[in-house]
Order: sequence, then structure tokens, then C-alpha cells
Amino acid sequence: MTNLNNPRSTLHALVPMGQGMADVESLSSYFCRLAHSHGMTARNLAAWTLDHYEQPVPDDFKWFRRSFAGMSMETEQWAAWLAELTGVANLDHLTLAPWRHLISNPSLTSVSDRWCPCCLSEDREREQFPYLRLTWDLAPVAACLRHKVELVSKCPHCGKSNVRNRASTVVIGYCTSCGGFLGNAKAAPATPQALWVARQVGLMLATLPRIASDGVATLLETIIERMAQGNVAAFAQQLGLSKSGVWHWVRKGGLPTLPAWLGIALHGRIGLERLFAGELSNWQLPTEPVQFSMSLSASPRKGIQSRKLIWEDLRQQLRAMLVEEAPISLADACLRTGLDHKLLYLRANTEARAIVDRYQRHQAASREAKEIRLQAQVGELIRERFDAGFEGMSAREVWQTLDSDLKTVRHTYRQVAKAIAANDPK
Ligand SMILES: [Zn+2]
Ligand SMILES: [Zn+2]
Repeated sequence: MTNLNNPRSTLHALVPMGQGMADVESLSSYFCRLAHSHGMTARNLAAWTLDHYEQPVPDDFKWFRRSFAGMSMETEQWAAWLAELTGVANLDHLTLAPWRHLISNPSLTSVSDRWCPCCLSEDREREQFPYLRLTWDLAPVAACLRHKVELVSKCPHCGKSNVRNRASTVVIGYCTSCGGFLGNAKAAPATPQALWVARQVGLMLATLPRIASDGVATLLETIIERMAQGNVAAFAQQLGLSKSGVWHWVRKGGLPTLPAWLGIALHGRIGLERLFAGELSNWQLPTEPVQFSMSLSASPRKGIQSRKLIWEDLRQQLRAMLVEEAPISLADACLRTGLDHKLLYLRANTEARAIVDRYQRHQAASREAKEIRLQAQVGELIRERFDAGFEGMSAREVWQTLDSDLKTVRHTYRQVAKAIAANDPK
């Protein structure tokens, strides 16, 4: 881990791309570039970071399951850790955390990974590292405003989905399955509606919100007052929202979803960034009805639920996964079938449970094998050291000699300390 040492910061002080702009980089992208600059895999950098902060590293640890782009406390924690390690401030601006008190979280981020191939190609033409835009991870965004095209989600070379950054080793811009350049994908022209949404979200991301959490209720009241003279039912109807949903914002401190905020922006003809800055004093409401409608029920699962599922085929696919040499987790089965785990449990219960069972047994066995290997390796190291007349070693010193596989053993330090104690002749 010596290559992580740097006179000013523990990790390289990489500058995030597009900060303060509509095409700001996402934290997942930053993280992959950071790992790359240290010659590490993203998975190992994530495991190293967790260990550095004395957090457990699960055996089936997949770094990309950490929702780097979202607004969870976990996202914010990662942004803070990476800011401390790199010395680069405000890495939470590469996530949605600054909007947590304004936008309701469910369905905010996209289930499948999307990108604009033209943006990636342009990055490469400019001889800079391609990077992933935070806006691509927001479920309502379906287009690139700069290139006026729809975002894509399939590798143009191997046709697979979720190949953008869901792997241990990621080179941003290249398929994690076949290695092909993702910028080669063909993108269809975007609709005016999709471009409008992309513009709004871009403006939002470029401007940090100024409304604090204690100002949200007043903001919503003012909006309903201005748009429907305070009449919740009329307001809900105008925007195509449920009345109970709007009452929930007003009375119970609920928050609008991003599509609902977009509905307010569309019908009130006011930018999201102005709403979130609380700039309502010069707000001129439109005199004519809006030109196009926007489906507020647009869900990130769109396309998945409407997909015609042929369950017999899918169950066969799952059974085939059960006889593959390496047991896979249910999460991987979900990724490969493009289905939600709840749906799998519901419609292919036997297969889903068999997958979980097989994986757990495999994990338990490999955990045990790893622990045995760790005990043996550390024991040998300690005995050699004592035999050569040296002092003992600290758990951290020993940890640094372990291979990357052993570094991921659950409670590594505890295990290492146990092995040291067992071999200490004193
Ligand atoms: Zn683009
Ligand atoms: Zn591919």
C-alpha cells in the first residue's frame, strides 16, 4: 500500500470533472478513476478504504452495490471518507446528498446503468479520461441535453446491460464484460420532453440548493398557494398527483419525488434550481397551459415491468445458473435476468431459494477455508520472525503482508490478532 502515500494526502488528489456544472462527474466515476490512478481495482480500493476506517469488509463484498450516486447516509459517508483521504473538498457534490432534504428518495436513481455514447466519445477525442455524469444515474433523466440523444444502456459490442461500472475492475468508458468502447453505441434522437427534463436536472445539479430542511414545508405551502390558491385538491389535479400524496407533504413532512418536482417546474414554468433556491418572489405563473404533458408516474422500472416475461424460460435460466460451476448470489441472478429480487421470489420461488441456499453454503465454506489459510499464513510469518530473533509484529504490519484475497476475510484484524497470539512464544 506504499503507493498510496503522498506528502499531502493519503490518496491522489484527483480533481473531479465538471464540478459545479450540469455534467458533473458522479462519485462512482471519481472512485473508479481514483482506483485506476493508484493502479488498484475499484474493489480493492473500496475494501482498503473500509479497512482503513475499521469497517468490516463482507465476504461477498461488491463495491458497486454501495450507492455512490444516491443520497443515502452511506453515500455521504463515502464522500466524506474520500474527501479526507484525497484532500479534495466537497466530494458530496458528486452525489445527490445535498438534495436529501428536498427530494424523496425511492426510485430516484436509475435501476440500470445508462450513458450518453456521444459524451464518452467526446471525452476521448479531447484526450481526457472518459467519465460518468451524475445526471445519467437519475431515473427521470432519459436524454443527453448536449447531444440531444437518448441515453443508452446496452454495450454496442456484446449487447449486455449493466456493464458500465459493476465489476471489480473498471475502466470508465469501456464495457466491463467485453472491454469494448461504450461510446460506440448508437443513440436515438431524444424527444423534446426528455430534453426538457435533462435541462431541468442539469440546472439543478449545477446549483446547490439554498433552501434548508426547515424551509421545505414553507416552500411547498408557497408553491401550492401560488399555483392553486392553497387548494390541495386542485393543485394535485393540475399536476396529476394523488391528493393524499400532496397532503402527506403538507401535513406529515413528506417530500415530493423528483418527477413531482419536475411537474411543479413544468406547470409553474419555473426552474428547479430557482425552486430549490427559494427564489419565488419574481415568479410569473404561465398564462397559457403547458405545451406538453409529462407522465409523473414514470418509474425507473419502466420497461422492466412492461416487459413480457416468459416465466418458464426464466425459471429454466435460473436452473441453469444453479449448475454453473461458481455459485452466484441472488443479486447477480437479478442483474442477469434484469428482474427485481421480490419478483423472483414471487414467481420463481423454488429457484430463487435454491440460488440463495447454494450461495450461502458456498460462502460459508469459502469463509472457513480463507480463515484457515489466514491462520496458517500468519502463523508461519510470525514463527519465521521470532526464529530470526525479531520482535513481534502489529496486526496492521501483518495485514499489509496478506494477499488481497485474505485482506477481505471477515474481521481481518481480529483474525490476525488471534493468529499472532497463538504463535507468540512468550
Ligand atoms: Zn452526450
Ligand atoms: Zn460489451
